[in-house]
Amino acid sequence: MQFGLSFKLIGYVAAGVLMTSAAIGVVRVQNERGPLSELIGKAGQSVANATASGAASLIAGYDYGNLEILADNISQQANVIRVIVRNQGGRIMSEAASGEAGTVNQFGAPVMFEGRKIGSVTVDMSTEALEKALRALYWRVFTEQIVFGAILGVIVYLFTAGGIVSPIRRLTMAMEEAVEKGDSFVPRELEVNSRDEIGRLVSVFNTLNESLASYHHQLQSKIDFANQELREKNIQLGGRTQELERALDLLNTMATTDWLTGLPNRRKFDEALSRMFHQSERFAEAVTLVLLDIDRFKQINDSHGHGAGDAVLRDIGSILRLHIRKSDLAARLGGDEFGIILYHTGSEQAERLVQKLMDGVRTHLFDYEDNTLNVAVSIGIAQRDVSMKTTQALYNAADKALYQAKLGGRNRHCVYSASPCVKAS
Ligand code: GH3
Ligand code: MG
Repeated sequence: MQFGLSFKLIGYVAAGVLMTSAAIGVVRVQNERGPLSELIGKAGQSVANATASGAASLIAGYDYGNLEILADNISQQANVIRVIVRNQGGRIMSEAASGEAGTVNQFGAPVMFEGRKIGSVTVDMSTEALEKALRALYWRVFTEQIVFGAILGVIVYLFTAGGIVSPIRRLTMAMEEAVEKGDSFVPRELEVNSRDEIGRLVSVFNTLNESLASYHHQLQSKIDFANQELREKNIQLGGRTQELERALDLLNTMATTDWLTGLPNRRKFDEALSRMFHQSERFAEAVTLVLLDIDRFKQINDSHGHGAGDAVLRDIGSILRLHIRKSDLAARLGGDEFGIILYHTGSEQAERLVQKLMDGVRTHLFDYEDNTLNVAVSIGIAQRDVSMKTTQALYNAADKALYQAKLGGRNRHCVYSASPCVKAS
């Protein structure tokens, strides 16, 4: 269980008031005890004196009967316990007791008759009255102190609550509010109501809070600035990365493309052939290689110029692109030689494609600077078989078929087989 500052203050004030009340009560009662007991002592002494003066003539006259009555009467008075009358010799002449017990104060008085002492009187008085009076006084003082203390306590509490508890509570609530919101500072200035320690505490808090807020804003603007810079750098970097990627793409394309026909070059062709050859081996899929060479190309160059040869090469490239499927790959292998890799394709299917190609070349109008050019091609076809362990073996087979086509009279195709090529297109 937690006790708040107000609760503790009330506790402290109450404890202080109680202790002060008790101390003041004790001191006041002690101060009152002296005069009171003096008063009671005087009363006792006057009873003894009065008894002595009453007894004087009775002792002188040896009137024992009336002495007895006098002692009885006196002993019946308030607080008197015992009365004893003695003669000059000390012999008891009369004695009476009221029967009361308790603490006793004894008072004595000489009995004088015609100027000489003829006896003595002893009166025992009870101190009960004194004790009672003191007790009553004590309670009265205590009650007065309590009431006074309570009023004082309320006044002290009201002042301290207003001057200490409220400002501390405001301070704590403002900080708790900031913590709950996840802020690192209090978003407003707290009112300073006094110039005392509490007022200084609130004022110092305001100063600290202000510098914290200022640091927070500076830090935030630095973070924003850094974020902005980072974003800009990222954008720049992104732009450069894109440029670099484009340049790399271009380099890659240049490295794998034939500049004249726009077809893939020998390098790309070799990579693709190797990949497809191994795939076909692993998955037992058919792959067929087609090699195409322009017939008597040197003559075209020689007769119509190198430009005419280039134009023919470009046209052949276009015809190839027109006839092959997306899964096939046509490339210019160098000079006037082209290669086509046909995946998932056997030699028979390849022959049908080649036939279309040959028709395409035959029907195409090759012209250069108003000159019509006669262009024909020879083609060798080879399908991979289990005896071929390397791409080179497949290439050699297709090359052999091409050689046979040339040997067979050109403008035709040959399919590789163990026996000499008999087909012509
Ligand atoms: P064949 O029928 O036996 O193939 O005879 P051919 O004249 O075509 O002989 P070959 O294939 O050996 O000749 C290729 C010629 O292609 C040789 C070269 O001058 C020419 N050549 C190679 N590259 C280019 C080129 O980029 N442009 C041009 N215009 N000619 C080229
Ligand atoms: Mg040739």
